[in-house]
Amino acid sequence: MQSFDFYSPEEQIYRASFAEAGLSVYFKRDDLIHPYISGNKWRKLKHQLLAAEAEGKTALITFGGAWSNHILATAAAAAKFNFQATAIIRGEEVSNPVLSLCKVYGMQLIFVSREDYKDKEALYRRYATESSYFIDEGGYGALGALGCSELVAELTEKYDYIFCAAGTGTTAAGLALGVENSLLTTQIHVIPVLKGGEFIQMEVQKLAPSAKDVTLHVDYHFGGYARTKPALLTFIKDFVADTGILIEPTYTGKLCYAVEDLAQQGYFPAGSRILLIHTGGLTGFIGMHERF
Ligand SMILES: *Cc1c(COP(=O)(O)O)cnc(C)c1O
Repeated sequence: MQSFDFYSPEEQIYRASFAEAGLSVYFKRDDLIHPYISGNKWRKLKHQLLAAEAEGKTALITFGGAWSNHILATAAAAAKFNFQATAIIRGEEVSNPVLSLCKVYGMQLIFVSREDYKDKEALYRRYATESSYFIDEGGYGALGALGCSELVAELTEKYDYIFCAAGTGTTAAGLALGVENSLLTTQIHVIPVLKGGEFIQMEVQKLAPSAKDVTLHVDYHFGGYARTKPALLTFIKDFVADTGILIEPTYTGKLCYAVEDLAQQGYFPAGSRILLIHTGGLTGFIGMHERF
């Protein structure tokens, strides 16, 4: 596979609320990795694509909803690294800008009922050939976590806290693993974007057994996955206009809201250095544009 050099600096975020709490807050700009192979999605795919290549597989099959950042990242990465790609999409056939981009990158889309979607192994067997390689929904898995762990070794500064948003927990597990491997004392804090986010701790233990527990903040889901509330939308508008860094309502908006809320509650000792992972996914904004 050809190499892929990308740019993801650590950039300070200037916000009155952070200054008032005596905090230095930074973004790891993984959103700049690629317009669509963005953020943690490239990190999660990297070792899976290398494994596919090592096994002589030429066609990726993966899974997701109709607005999935992972599906789009897989489509763009497959085109770049010369794989064929098929996505099995949950629910009835729809069209939207994300799926159109997937098609332009040459991905084949197969829509299946929510009932059928529950059994991914069976769907995989139905559509796989000898040259197929299975990539789970959201890029979930230990190889995904391994790729995310590499983020920690890139850091040029030291931080007391690293915060990320979590869907499957793969990124959180990778960060916990990276901190462990680099022998850092940085605490990993996680904002689950789904209701009932306590399960993320189990995923971290499963995907990164050697890593320490992460700290979960489970009350910032705003009603559940892809759900939002006026307070979150108002916050996002203010944050984006203030900092010039785009965040969206599904993941990074909830992350930033949580960190600002914790800062205002005095959760962090003054002088703390906090890194937020900008996991990209800005197409999530397009699906909710009418809310702004
Ligand atoms: C997919 C995604 C996540 C969730 O990552 P997990 O590894 O599944 O927890 C977070 N942020 C953005 C922007 C995403 O697209």
